Amino acid sequence: MSAKIIDGKAFAETVRGKVAVHVARLKADHGITPGLAVVLVGEDPASQVYVRNKGKQTLECGMNSFEHKLDASTGEAELLALIERLNNDPAVHGILVQLPLPKHLNEDLVINAIAPDKDVDGFHISNVGRLGTGQKSMVPCTPLGCLMLLRDHLGSLSGLNAVVVGRSNIVGKPMANLLLKDSCTVTIAHSRTREIEAVCRAADIVVAAVGRPEMIRGDWIRPGATVIDVGINRVAAPDKGEGKTRIVGDVHFESASAVAGAITPVPGGVGPMTIACLLANTVTACCRANGLAEPEGLTA
Ligand code: NDP
Repeated sequence: MSAKIIDGKAFAETVRGKVAVHVARLKADHGITPGLAVVLVGEDPASQVYVRNKGKQTLECGMNSFEHKLDASTGEAELLALIERLNNDPAVHGILVQLPLPKHLNEDLVINAIAPDKDVDGFHISNVGRLGTGQKSMVPCTPLGCLMLLRDHLGSLSGLNAVVVGRSNIVGKPMANLLLKDSCTVTIAHSRTREIEAVCRAADIVVAAVGRPEMIRGDWIRPGATVIDVGINRVAAPDKGEGKTRIVGDVHFESASAVAGAITPVPGGVGPMTIACLLANTVTACCRANGLAEPEGLTA
């Protein structure tokens, strides 16, 4: 193996440390405590784990955490009324509605009801538009985490060829916009892309956000390229025992790490950065709401 391992777990800890320092300063100098409200509708087990982790890490950074757990049968009007209350609550600087929502709720309607300045997930149509036009916005957490890892490893990204595999609204598209903003030459590949292996081989940076276990292999990677693996896929692991599973990325780590210059592992790469960036976005939103300087290195 030749690639440098980009340690997202360690970097996420650094980000959380910076957030905690800034939170302490906000409290000491201005008497302000940033607050994050997380809304969970229903009992999806994975969502419950995410929400618990978000709340725990929010408190660990010295911020206020407000959890709102609603029954799976909650109607749209009730959910929208809660969002309106949170929009108007000065103690709440960030609002996150955990996705996916139960089928009877209109996700777009709910997300677009969040005040854009409190939309710490960066999914509100106004933040999507601002990011797309290069204006100051709230930036989706996972792509922001990828960008931080890339900047930390490569310094300036200007002029590099970047290929983003995947065009989802939550990862692929905002990732491509962020790379473009940092002056990369950006290609977005997806399920209809022709000769996708060759497209990836032309890249200095490959960001994989596909949801297909180990699809991107070493022979798709240009020697020395930087590979960011966003994928989280649970696959059978018969070697660990019957019925056991393991988590793998969208990149075949063994073959890709023999060719790449640097690569994020799964787990321990992009994953831990997502919540760290949620905390960073909450501090950023709090600073903006109060007309204060934003923390350096925590935004795009
Ligand atoms: P989506 O399913 O929304 O999007 C997947 C994208 O991959 C689509 O654009 C699709 O193309 C493309 N795709 C699918 N199959 C192929 C293929 N064979 N060749 C090329 N492109 C393909 O997924 P997400 O963006 O939500 O997530 C992607 C991965 O990232 C998942 O593994 C997910 O679990 C993980 N993830 C990790 C996070 C983290 O915190 N680390 C956060 C969010 C997601 P098309 O549009 O043409 O269908």
